[in-house]
Amino acid sequence: MGVIGATGAVGQKFVELLEGHPWFEITALAASDRSAGHRYSEAVNWIGSAPIPASIASMEVVSLNTELPCDFVFSGLHASVADHAEPRLASEGYPVISNAKSFRMHKDVPLLIPEINPDHTALIENQDWGQGGYIVTNPNCSTVGLTCALKPLHDAFGLEAVQVTTMQALSGAGYPGVPSLDALANVVPFIGGEEDKLVHEPNKLLGRLVDGAIQTETITISAQCNRVPILEGHLECVSVKLGSCVSSDEVCRAFKSYVSPIRTLELPTEPDNFLHVFEDERFPQPRRHSELGGGMTVSIGRIRPCEVLDHKFVVLSHNTVRGAAGGAVLNAELLLKQGLLQPRKAHVPHNIGTAEGS
Ligand code: NAP
Repeated sequence: MGVIGATGAVGQKFVELLEGHPWFEITALAASDRSAGHRYSEAVNWIGSAPIPASIASMEVVSLNTELPCDFVFSGLHASVADHAEPRLASEGYPVISNAKSFRMHKDVPLLIPEINPDHTALIENQDWGQGGYIVTNPNCSTVGLTCALKPLHDAFGLEAVQVTTMQALSGAGYPGVPSLDALANVVPFIGGEEDKLVHEPNKLLGRLVDGAIQTETITISAQCNRVPILEGHLECVSVKLGSCVSSDEVCRAFKSYVSPIRTLELPTEPDNFLHVFEDERFPQPRRHSELGGGMTVSIGRIRPCEVLDHKFVVLSHNTVRGAAGGAVLNAELLLKQGLLQPRKAHVPHNIGTAEGS
């Protein structure tokens, strides 16, 4: 498998998370012409705390314009590059599992969180890039945490309106990201394009698959996005208006009793605890809790009545793991189990099944 945009913040997270993965093995690393032709260790400005995996450090980074020696790719490209590169790769027969925003809202491209809408992969059948290639996307890093929290409430009570204020980590802006004079001891109350994604992406993710198409939801969402001086983990303050009148205890129970539709598939990157509900009203906190479940658990706390809408609570999710590379790896694992990816590595279980529900 290949990683494109391999030297960026998300690309590095792919390299880190795929080290020792039981099903997938990196056979190609691609980035811009600036990096092509160099060993990965020379091309990358490695920001991880663990060293670059030895098997990867000496691999040569290639240009996107060469034939990639891999069966599918994870993409950590910026949208401006992904706009052209991802359809070209799909037309050459590569499945592209992308973090970029370019095709998230395309009607035939799954916008996927396996614990929320695994059946949306059926959209792949509608894609016709040629040679069997396709594009699957994961949502914006703030959308992920929000939607994981909204899903149990939408299923149990129906959702009418959502108000969300985000406090987003610096790593969400990539590397080198926000200038230090803007970031230090400061809050920047604007992240370009982010609020629009929070308004539209959850409605696609929570939509139902009907006759091979997604019927998007029509939940009214108002979002305000802020960049705050923390490293990893997006915290979001959420208020919801529900379709029925319920207590905060019932809201809490809906979070705790939510059963992930992929629970039985035994995907390596799926956390034991998809949603963790904190009783301690000081939690969740980014520095303490972003890494729960290897960065794949979404944490919820401070569930209480809202004076303006019905209920309010706080959500935390790891932006470069759950919100980017980890989410994409889980997507690939689901696709493999659904028979939509052909892995090269030997140790893939034979009990290929399909995930049900959404
Ligand atoms: P980044 O750190 O700026 O990395 C960009 C990567 O793209 C680098 O590997 C870069 O290679 C490569 N690249 C740039 N121009 C290229 C070209 N013309 N051809 C081929 N490769 C090219 O960005 P990032 O933060 O990792 O974000 C990557 C994508 O993930 C974006 O679409 C972003 O919106 C999305 N995303 C990010 C996060 C997050 O928390 N950071 C979360 C969710 C989604 P060089 O090093 O050679 O320039």
